[in-house]
Amino acid sequence: MEMWELMEEMTNNIDGEQEKVLADILSLNAHTEYLQRHGLAGNTDRESFKTRLPVVSYEDIRPDIQRIAGGDRSPILSALPLSHLLCSSGTSGGEKKLLPLVEGDLDRVEMFWRVMDSLMNWHGSGLKQGKTLKFIHVRKECETGAGIAVRYLLTSWYKSGHFLSKHHHYSTTHTSPVASIHCTDTFQSTYSQLLAGLADRLSVVQLSATFALGLLQAIRFLERHYLDLAMDIEKGTVDPRITDKDIRAALETRLTPDPENATHIRKECGCGQWKGIIRRIWPNAQYLEAVATGSMSLYVPVLEFYSDGLPLVSLAYASSECFFGINLNPFCKLEDVTYTIIPNLAYFEFLPVESPENCLQPAELVNLADVQMGKEYEIVVTTYSGLYRYRVGDILRVVSFYNKAPQFKFVCRGNVVLSIDIEKTSEADLQNAVAAAEAAHLIPHNTRVAEFTSYADTSTTPGHYVIYWELSRTTDQTEGFSADYLIGQCCLAIEESFDATYKEVRVYDRSIGPLEIKVVKNGTFDRLMDFAVSNGASVAQYKPPRCVKSDSLLQILDAAVVSAHFSPRPPSWSK
Ligand code: AMP
Repeated sequence: MEMWELMEEMTNNIDGEQEKVLADILSLNAHTEYLQRHGLAGNTDRESFKTRLPVVSYEDIRPDIQRIAGGDRSPILSALPLSHLLCSSGTSGGEKKLLPLVEGDLDRVEMFWRVMDSLMNWHGSGLKQGKTLKFIHVRKECETGAGIAVRYLLTSWYKSGHFLSKHHHYSTTHTSPVASIHCTDTFQSTYSQLLAGLADRLSVVQLSATFALGLLQAIRFLERHYLDLAMDIEKGTVDPRITDKDIRAALETRLTPDPENATHIRKECGCGQWKGIIRRIWPNAQYLEAVATGSMSLYVPVLEFYSDGLPLVSLAYASSECFFGINLNPFCKLEDVTYTIIPNLAYFEFLPVESPENCLQPAELVNLADVQMGKEYEIVVTTYSGLYRYRVGDILRVVSFYNKAPQFKFVCRGNVVLSIDIEKTSEADLQNAVAAAEAAHLIPHNTRVAEFTSYADTSTTPGHYVIYWELSRTTDQTEGFSADYLIGQCCLAIEESFDATYKEVRVYDRSIGPLEIKVVKNGTFDRLMDFAVSNGASVAQYKPPRCVKSDSLLQILDAAVVSAHFSPRPPSWSK
């Protein structure tokens, strides 16, 4: 059956599919210690599942995971043999987790990619054919004390037999040498992927990365290194900093001296104008593809600037715990992106957001087929790898239906919350407030927020919110830009955007002080990423934290502050 027909069938029978998946997971894992511990006793029906199994977070299953990591091969969570452990990026929600990957999980990942490919073939049938310049980086794998391999999901996929068996086909559809993908040195990997993508630039019809930030980093790398890259293109050589023998071998077969191409690259990159650089270097590119929703939406304007408005397709919603869904309307506007959950990947339940106090009441959870239009939920998964009723931490809103399948807008990560008193400010609240302040006070002065994060500073009395900003200018004109005044206005605009509870505690109770924006030097967020990477985070899966809690990150930020600004007055509030 064509992948597309399979999706049609599944989305028409969402509840039946889910019931089947649950029974499959529970019968397969009936003898695991976890299900026995909770008295499931081989029952595979929803009723027993919902009444006997608790809703859990990572902390609840950490002891079980630690046993698996410690080398206990008994069926603790899943009866399926463990392939290795996955390491979640831990950079968005702050906590890094180890998660089991079992035999068969990568088959589900492959099925997910195939649905996406078939969808893109369908929607892109009128587009030019050519190659994809996809920036991918794997990380060095490590081992637990008991010798169990720990990998990032993307590393796991790009090192798997599933991917490697298509190795030869890859070079006909993508410009990056597989050796570059497999190189764990970020400089060598990025340089060589760009070099190959520049040498073959007229074949490139699509540029892509897992996350929008990955695409942006690649273009910024081009800004810094285009002269060296152009030199290699001109001479058909490979820069001596590329010491990986496999990469050199792969590039040497692809490069021949091409002075004309080098002249074009130097001219376009050296003209001092980076607007539209993607179109000028890759004139046949028709769209960009990368996750651009949630925290990645911050990078959309700058990608639009670099690509001069090429469509940006945000296709997949996935995590290390589980792959969730895809955007069935890939060329829609970014604000309209929704993800349709693929119902045979796992069993999905939804915790209504409006009842946080009852969060852990298992009966409160709603089935995939029963979610209601307009409502927000936290997604909870039960997977083949042995996560049962596990809270992923993401909040989604139901905005439409495809056949019988609900389509979700990604709202935010639920656990990134600033709070000093009774107010709770979510990642989405913060992102919207920053966007509103930027639109009102910075964009008119050719300035944008390139990166931000936040911190609830309780060392002052009263405590107050601190927002760290890295700014970028869209032109060199600085006329009329009075930083102190405008950023003070931004502080106020952010406070005006927050909800009534924030304003009440800020204005009436005065238990929160004026919001502060600390502007940091350019490059500070790169240093935050370098710090995360040096502590083992994956470059490809990295998502900057929108709220920092760690002292080490705060030290990096505070050491880079160039100016600090406060709200000049309290926001408007009426009882
Ligand atoms: P990781 O911890 O590296 O496995 O990252 C998984 C997390 O990335 C998810 O739980 C989401 O919070 C975020 N994420 C993944 N895909 C998307 C998407 N399409 N839109 C917004 N956020 C996403």
